[in-house]
Amino acid sequence: MDLIKLSNTFPTELSCIEYAEKIRFGKKVKCAYCNSENLGRRNADNRHKCLSCGKSTSVTINTNLHDTRISLKTWFYAVSVITDAKKGMSALQLQRNINVSYPTAFSMYHKLRELMMDNNKKEVKNLNGIIEMDETFIGGKPRKFGNPCFEPMRREELDKEIDRVEKKGFDFAPLGKNKGKCTENSKRGRGTQNIPVVGMVERNGNVVAEVMKTLTYENLKKMVMKYVKEEKSVLITDNYKGYNSMKKIIDHIKIDHKQMYSYRGVNSNSIESFWAIIERGIMGQYHSVSPEKLPNYIAEFVYRYNNRKDTAIMFDELLKKLLEVRKIK
Ligand SMILES: [Zn+2]
Repeated sequence: MDLIKLSNTFPTELSCIEYAEKIRFGKKVKCAYCNSENLGRRNADNRHKCLSCGKSTSVTINTNLHDTRISLKTWFYAVSVITDAKKGMSALQLQRNINVSYPTAFSMYHKLRELMMDNNKKEVKNLNGIIEMDETFIGGKPRKFGNPCFEPMRREELDKEIDRVEKKGFDFAPLGKNKGKCTENSKRGRGTQNIPVVGMVERNGNVVAEVMKTLTYENLKKMVMKYVKEEKSVLITDNYKGYNSMKKIIDHIKIDHKQMYSYRGVNSNSIESFWAIIERGIMGQYHSVSPEKLPNYIAEFVYRYNNRKDTAIMFDELLKKLLEVRKIK
């Protein structure tokens, strides 16, 4: 939501509270403690006294915002600014946008990332069809080739593999001439030294990405089994050795990126473009991301990518998450 629309829709704290109440309770406001609809009038502090249990109730009680001292309006603006920032933003930029202290902006952003991470769980067993899988290394220098972990592959082998899978009805290059053209590799590479992140994207669909301690077949296999819904799917990867036994669990085609990026529609362009967003975002915006926090940053980009077609959904979805009821005592 742009800022003008946002300030028209939510001009006051009360307008935000009423919207939040609709999200949490539906048409009629209820007591957060006993669920009674028998409430007194709204007090000057915007809370209600419950006429059934006698407690003072508000929409944030027992939610993720239970302990917040920040106004709902500030939360609404933070959610809007963050979901609109296509390349991500730093806590410093958020601080400037919503006029809070740096530590407050930092912890708000952190909370929202956790909620995005939680939301990403719906991608489990959700990918199917043609799935590109690839690994990247956050913070690394390009050095992928000459690495003994990658086995060179001949084009004839790849032709045989593509023919075999296409016979099953998969079409790697459905949109004609350019999609199926062969793009040879002139130079390509990616880091090997830093934190490995593995991603899988369904063609024209959603992405998942996880930090992986070591890129072993066992770990890669676990990830495929976690996220792929249909047995009748096909995986495209590069020729990294860890993928060698993938055929045991899923149909699989490898492309040797040392020779070409794309061949008859077999490529990992979708996951590569996701890596490009991650690299620009994480390396550019967040100058120092600790390894412990890296999964949260990755989750933010996954979340944004999977909602790229409709950012309005993100706004409502994150508000809903913020107002999810938790057992807080
Ligand atoms: Zn009550």
